[in-house]
Amino acid sequence: MRVLVTGGAGFIGSHFVRQLIAGRYPALRDSQVVVLDKLTYAGNLANLAGVLDDERLRFVTGDICDERIVAELMAGTDLVVHLAAESHVDRSILGSGEFIRTNVLGTHVLLQAALEAGVGRFVQVSTDEVYGSIAAGSWTEDRPLEPNSPYSASKASADLLVRAYHRTHGLNACVTRCSNNYGPYQHPEKVVPLFLTNLIDGSKVPLYGDGHNVRDWLHVDDHCRGIALVAERGRAGEVYNIGGGTELSNRALTETLLSITGHDFGMVRHVPDRKGHDARYSVDITKISRELGYAPRIGFAAGIAETLDWYRANRSWWAPLKAAPTAA
Ligand code: NAD
Repeated sequence: MRVLVTGGAGFIGSHFVRQLIAGRYPALRDSQVVVLDKLTYAGNLANLAGVLDDERLRFVTGDICDERIVAELMAGTDLVVHLAAESHVDRSILGSGEFIRTNVLGTHVLLQAALEAGVGRFVQVSTDEVYGSIAAGSWTEDRPLEPNSPYSASKASADLLVRAYHRTHGLNACVTRCSNNYGPYQHPEKVVPLFLTNLIDGSKVPLYGDGHNVRDWLHVDDHCRGIALVAERGRAGEVYNIGGGTELSNRALTETLLSITGHDFGMVRHVPDRKGHDARYSVDITKISRELGYAPRIGFAAGIAETLDWYRANRSWWAPLKAAPTAA
């Protein structure tokens, strides 16, 4: 089997590739893997240290919007796992052009090339943010898409293109929609590593508004296992929510991060709320649990403690990213 992973040098993509090469996904164990990644500020070859030299892995630096490279790599591919994206909501508020280009147009280039090459399976890795915000209860996969940020709107647009390529052309495609991830190798612009690395250094952490916004937190390893299950056994044309971690307000998340680093609320700096900040996300994972036997395995307390240990031990990975002019 030949697998093309887009965005494989990012946070989640690199975890998926490292686990795949390590044989953690039985159905994909003997795969040849091609990673296509543009190495934007968010992509980092260091995320693939340990597997870059593996003979089953080929890394290609390139843009998913580049029709020539994509067509070349698509030939002979059995499975596409599409993770490449502009992924930071705050950046999409400051400027959304790159989000539309990569997340919408890039996905279209991939879908068209996959169709022309006769690819057997296409997995679009999407987000629960496409559903918008929910006051009570949890989203099932048939809920309407009501994205509120340019980021989530670009992901929703891509999801609809995937649906159209399946319905119109019969492309064997699935969409996964996951809640917020945390874990090692996450860029320090995102809230968990930003707060952990600030606190490791004894710096204050910026909390949006009153911190009432609620998110479901899932370890990246559980997300990637869900993606692998969908790649292997998901029904063509279907959407699968992935989540089931721990629902926390941003304030409660902050309190946890303060507590495990030995700090108190005095280390919090209140900043004006994010524009259009969604109040609550919550995904219903009944479908993937029943159909594919998925359940998260890593509890939040253990996962976040292990993540803190990783950031403590890997300053050389994150310090240059925080010092870079693109850092948040
Ligand atoms: P990330 O920002 O860490 O990584 C994105 C990767 O895509 C980087 O390696 C970057 O270089 C690459 N990339 C960006 N533009 C590209 C282009 N035009 N061509 C080729 N490569 C390009 O993102 P992440 O957090 O790992 O998220 C991966 C995917 O999972 C995204 O599609 C995101 O929407 C989705 N997702 C993320 C989360 C989360 O909590 N992080 C939750 C649910 C879904």
